[in-house]
Amino acid sequence: MLTSFRSINRRDFLKFCAGTATLLGLSEAAVPRVAKALEEAAKKPPVIWLEGQDCAGCSISFTNTSNPGTAEIILDTISLRYHEALMAASGHQAEKALQDSIKEGGYVLVVEGSIPEADDRYCKIADVPFVQTVKEAAANAAAVIAIGACATYGGIPRGTPSKGMGISAAMDKGLVPKKPLINVPTCPVHPEHFVGTVVYYLLYKKPPPMDAHLRPLLFYDKLIHDNCERRGHFENGEFLADWNDFKQRNFCLYLKGCKGPFTHSDCPKRRWNDGLNWCIGCGAGCQGCSEPAFYTGMSPLYQKTKDIAGYRIETVGAVMAGAVAVGLAGHFIGQAMTGRLGKGGPTEKGGES
Ligand code: SF4
Repeated sequence: MLTSFRSINRRDFLKFCAGTATLLGLSEAAVPRVAKALEEAAKKPPVIWLEGQDCAGCSISFTNTSNPGTAEIILDTISLRYHEALMAASGHQAEKALQDSIKEGGYVLVVEGSIPEADDRYCKIADVPFVQTVKEAAANAAAVIAIGACATYGGIPRGTPSKGMGISAAMDKGLVPKKPLINVPTCPVHPEHFVGTVVYYLLYKKPPPMDAHLRPLLFYDKLIHDNCERRGHFENGEFLADWNDFKQRNFCLYLKGCKGPFTHSDCPKRRWNDGLNWCIGCGAGCQGCSEPAFYTGMSPLYQKTKDIAGYRIETVGAVMAGAVAVGLAGHFIGQAMTGRLGKGGPTEKGGES
């Protein structure tokens, strides 16, 4: 079993609990309940964390958080039985820990990375095809949490010869036993999305309310575009067309391929790296990494979505949720009717920001 990196003092622990209660939309009165759930977590189902076709970015994202470190808190309060990157054991000792935990059953299975659909040879751990390991581990799991774009919907590996697939696809194909599944996407996973999901599960002993893609509504119910800090420029038809023009630096990034109008996540409010910044805040368009269509359905990442005021909506709708496309179409039609949007779609209007 893994132990934490360092012990957490009571003050840090309660600070974490208060932050987590806020994360879950709970009042301050819920802090003792969050603390109790976490304190009792050591007696609760253990966690097995598997990694398949991935870059380990989700593990790194999770362990890099601070103030206080969610990884440290979580590793102090859950029984993490197996994690290839974090565990001290290796070789046969590590595999024995995995097999013993699977036999025990009743754990939460966290999966990071996709499963190769094309051929077993693309991802083997301890000479066992990854799909086989996930199949065995899911069989005795109480619930499965898929984290990151790869484990949820296939992510970048889906467009490679390995044809990486997410856990829900593997369950649908009968390759992995069906279990309660929570998808926590983005590339990498946002540590607060993951921690919030785990704590919700510990508190309520069931998955949080989710959307059609099994994403917790707590974090993925709004479009990036709804709360984007560049939205005012979008409304004014001010779109960045030239990366080298300093005057356009804060303009809307839609013409540079921003997928914010089609992507669900609370990134504009939560931001990344302990709230320091986020993709659009530092000048890069949203890449749509929380959506099932990511990566191939969102690429090319730095090209605009064409003819959005008219025909392009239908093209976008083929890879995005239909309701989003319809809603967006209505929005753009309204923009066009009020004269704020050019007839052929967003224009490359310049000028001072
Ligand atoms: Fe923000 Fe992108 Fe929407 Fe522009 S298109 S307002 S940059 S989310």
